[in-house]
Amino acid sequence: MKNLYNLLKKEYGKLGKWWPGTSTEILITAILTQNTNWKNVEKAMENIYKFTTKDNLLFFLYDTPKEKLAEIIKPAGFFNIKAERIKNLLNFLKKRNFNLKYVEKEPNLREKLLKIKGIGKETADSILLYAFEFPIFVVDAYTKRLLKRIYGLNIEDYDKIQELFHKNYPKDTRLYQEFHGLIVEHAKKYCRKKPLCSKCFFGKKCNYLTSPLRTY
Ligand code: SF4
Repeated sequence: MKNLYNLLKKEYGKLGKWWPGTSTEILITAILTQNTNWKNVEKAMENIYKFTTKDNLLFFLYDTPKEKLAEIIKPAGFFNIKAERIKNLLNFLKKRNFNLKYVEKEPNLREKLLKIKGIGKETADSILLYAFEFPIFVVDAYTKRLLKRIYGLNIEDYDKIQELFHKNYPKDTRLYQEFHGLIVEHAKKYCRKKPLCSKCFFGKKCNYLTSPLRTY
């Protein structure tokens, strides 16, 4: 577990922050990326930018009626739900004058984000880590899969997995940003739903082939 970051980094190199875009864009892409791939997120963002500029992004989305917004973000899938979730987040930001510098200093920001309908732990932590640069580890389905397969750790609980990373690695924003990216890249390249173990560099370092948990 302690060497996971180094092993992944050795293979995939320096990914840096990994999540693209400005803080403002990340607030929106964190919702758009729910249950879809990044290409669809990009298409939805391209559609948005047919109507506005980067500087005006949040104001435009706030002023756009929900139905129209759903139409614009259609490529991201689940567009009605996502339009509503974006609106919920924008209402939260509007109450703070869309001032992200102010928002990031707000006490208990994570708890407040989690109270917004449609913002779960993964989305809230993605916003905190990548938009506001808090040292908080993002857990996703890929993270759970890797822990299960490589280390035989069958943990479903989000908080417990997050705690494991927080305990085993220094609380470092850049490290957590890159680490989450490395996990996603690995899960997409080799550790897919149907894993490509014969090609994977983990080889015998991975428990999967001998694990009694090998039912996934
Ligand atoms: S060896 Fe297979 S199960 Fe293990 S990390 Fe690689 S792809 Fe995943």
